[in-house]
Amino acid sequence: MANTVCEQGSCGNALPVAGRGRVPRFCSTRCRVAAHRARRAESALPKELTRRRRWVRRDVRKAPRTTDGAYASVADGSVWSTHADALRSRAGVGLGYVLAEGDGVACIDLDHCLDGGQLAAWARDILDRCPATFVEVSVSGAGLHIWGRATVTRGRRIRRDGVVIEIYGQARYIAVTGRRFEQCPARLADISEVVASLT
Ligand SMILES: [Zn+2]
Repeated sequence: MANTVCEQGSCGNALPVAGRGRVPRFCSTRCRVAAHRARRAESALPKELTRRRRWVRRDVRKAPRTTDGAYASVADGSVWSTHADALRSRAGVGLGYVLAEGDGVACIDLDHCLDGGQLAAWARDILDRCPATFVEVSVSGAGLHIWGRATVTRGRRIRRDGVVIEIYGQARYIAVTGRRFEQCPARLADISEVVASLT
């Protein structure tokens, strides 16, 4: 079935009624440009992530979806896909990565730390303590995901002074944008020490 809403996803606009020829994919030039930029970012991710079959799609509500659009359980590896297949899929609005037991991949999720491109001091402090590793801006544009190598068997949510930090290493999926923050590299460094320090 053809899409009836703009594939850019976050605009929520209906597509213009198609005339002859191809059905449009985007409501506007602005959305077409934004979608191409997003796709480029989703293609330039660390190999430590793209080489693993841990990929899903995500819908507008940030729920994980298979490449066919069905609900994707973070506990069932048979419904996850390769990065290439997830990238090709038109289900939902973007990519997601499942943190799976035994991979040694972890993600530190810093909520509401970016305001108009300015990074909050508490978040800068955490980032400064990390070795150079892949850091992406979250879907909302207001958060950061610090990706790295660490063993986190039990995820945790730390709430302190109105600040929320989440740390995950398994049984969890992360909405991936690939929008690299500042000059970070496209590789995962060992972030074990920082993970251990956040309690
Ligand atoms: Zn649109």
